[in-house]
Amino acid sequence: MQQTELTELFKKYKALLSGHFQLSSGLHSNGYFQSALILQYPAQAKKIAMQISHKIKEYKIKVDVIVSPAIGGIVIGHEVGEVLGVRSIFTERVNNFVKLRRNFSLCKNEKVLIVEDVITTGLSTNEVIQHISSTGAIIVAVASIVDRRIDNTLNLNVPIISLLKLQVNNYPKNKCPMCCNNQKIVKPGSRELI
Ligand SMILES: [Zn+2]
Repeated sequence: MQQTELTELFKKYKALLSGHFQLSSGLHSNGYFQSALILQYPAQAKKIAMQISHKIKEYKIKVDVIVSPAIGGIVIGHEVGEVLGVRSIFTERVNNFVKLRRNFSLCKNEKVLIVEDVITTGLSTNEVIQHISSTGAIIVAVASIVDRRIDNTLNLNVPIISLLKLQVNNYPKNKCPMCCNNQKIVKPGSRELI
């Protein structure tokens, strides 16, 4: 699947939204990727998971287990787990800290692939990396459907494998042109729902 084909798929399912959004990082943005609108269709989720898995195999990355951040990463993480034939677990945010719950555990030196739907700033991904590393497991890579980091300034120190690099603008609240125009803001992130 080429990037243009993937972009067409996002458009078809209206997963690429434009407007005025408050991201879970607190930044404001003129674009938002609502992955759930595609992933609600298992056949499409499988298609995307196969592309991610293909890249993982292409880079000869050995994976023992998938870890996905809830809620956005769970569906695609599970699908990638099925394609790669490994188990798939998820982290949750408890009192603002990322944790493995539900008696999920990782063994020392187990090779972890983190699977996200979208990497926005990399900050949440970094929190997951820190927590998983503290268990003694090894992060071999981070994979996502979309990477919408603006300048890749946050060095995550692991390979980042994404299907689509998305160009949208993020603004701090006090420099947001949509706020200046009193445009109504939407909070589409899932952090408050957990
Ligand atoms: Zn704004």
